[in-house]
Amino acid sequence: MIYLDYAASTPPSAEVMESFLKVSNEYYANNGAVHKLGSDAHSLYIKAKEQIARFLKVEIDELFFTSGATEANNMAIKGFALKYQSRGKHLITTMMEHPSVYEAFKQLEEYFGFEVTYLTPDENGLITADHVEAAIKKDTILVSVMHVNNEIGSINDVYSIGEMLKQHRKIAFHVDLTQSIGKIDFSVKKMNIDMASISSHKIYGLKGSGLLYKKSSIELLPLFSGGKQQGGLRAGTFSTAACVATAKAVRIALQTQQENYQYVLKLHQFVKEKLQTMDKLTINTPEDNYSPYILNFSVKNIKPETFLRAMSEDGIYLSTKSACSKTRNIRSRVIASITDDEEVISTPIRISFSHHIKLHELEQIVNKLEKNIMKLRGI
Ligand code: PMP
Repeated sequence: MIYLDYAASTPPSAEVMESFLKVSNEYYANNGAVHKLGSDAHSLYIKAKEQIARFLKVEIDELFFTSGATEANNMAIKGFALKYQSRGKHLITTMMEHPSVYEAFKQLEEYFGFEVTYLTPDENGLITADHVEAAIKKDTILVSVMHVNNEIGSINDVYSIGEMLKQHRKIAFHVDLTQSIGKIDFSVKKMNIDMASISSHKIYGLKGSGLLYKKSSIELLPLFSGGKQQGGLRAGTFSTAACVATAKAVRIALQTQQENYQYVLKLHQFVKEKLQTMDKLTINTPEDNYSPYILNFSVKNIKPETFLRAMSEDGIYLSTKSACSKTRNIRSRVIASITDDEEVISTPIRISFSHHIKLHELEQIVNKLEKNIMKLRGI
């Protein structure tokens, strides 16, 4: 089996599992409890936050543990819009966001009377500061632009967007960092962002855990009503073991980032060069400003489901647009925002790489890709 769907999820590392099991078994008390086992668990939670804060170069009280990036995105976007709606009801996001951002904006528009501008990227799949600036209105209060796109791997210029937004003090800036952490170098402070979202299971951590970064100067309307856990922003007993496991995943991801990047770039380039020689195949990942962890292409005249099934029978696991959209509708909103070609839009295939992939597996991957394309085209 060759797994090529790491952007959808990664296997938890041995170190992460070890921490998770140890803390689950030994520090199982509610970390809000007054007794010693509770306060020991609480100390581990604080230590996990301190470690992550040090690695991300942010303050400890700017971090909140969540059930993943979906929750962090919802907390940031809806929490901010609902809290500050009296200042203005215009919001800006993009057509290329993950559903947990895009649908949150749709909900604000549909049920809470907000006006949302959905920016279309340029032909290279990029959202720039000029795009955002042109959309700003007097009553704009929030901008959300992802760093690395999860379908095509394009990297938006969030630094310039953050810099430009410094002149608009009323507008908060949220960035979905899910596909960049541990892969693409970034600095939360230099990006000048107010809120950011991160998921653990994309960096060899556990599914069902992630983080919200939020500047202390910003308040959010909590989405859950309940206890006062995590400053009352995220009510509910949370898993101390998941916090410790997330800290471990973040540490390993950031410490190995440089080395893994160079290796994965080689994998990406090898497969891309082979794909470029194939007929009626369009590469949707941009030429410049892309994450090597993602390679997206469309194969004309072949149904993606049929292709994925054929590849799966050969032991190679790929995906279409993303695992969060397990529907029959393969049409990609992201690819539709960079091209008008309906065939390209509805036939996307995504390979997502990892340092776990061996160099000797590359020939096998490209051979099977080529074989199944030819077979399904009846050649
Ligand atoms: N944002 C992006 C860019 C993603 O790729 C994903 C995962 N597909 C998410 C958000 C959602 O993350 P989670 O699975 O942790 O909710």
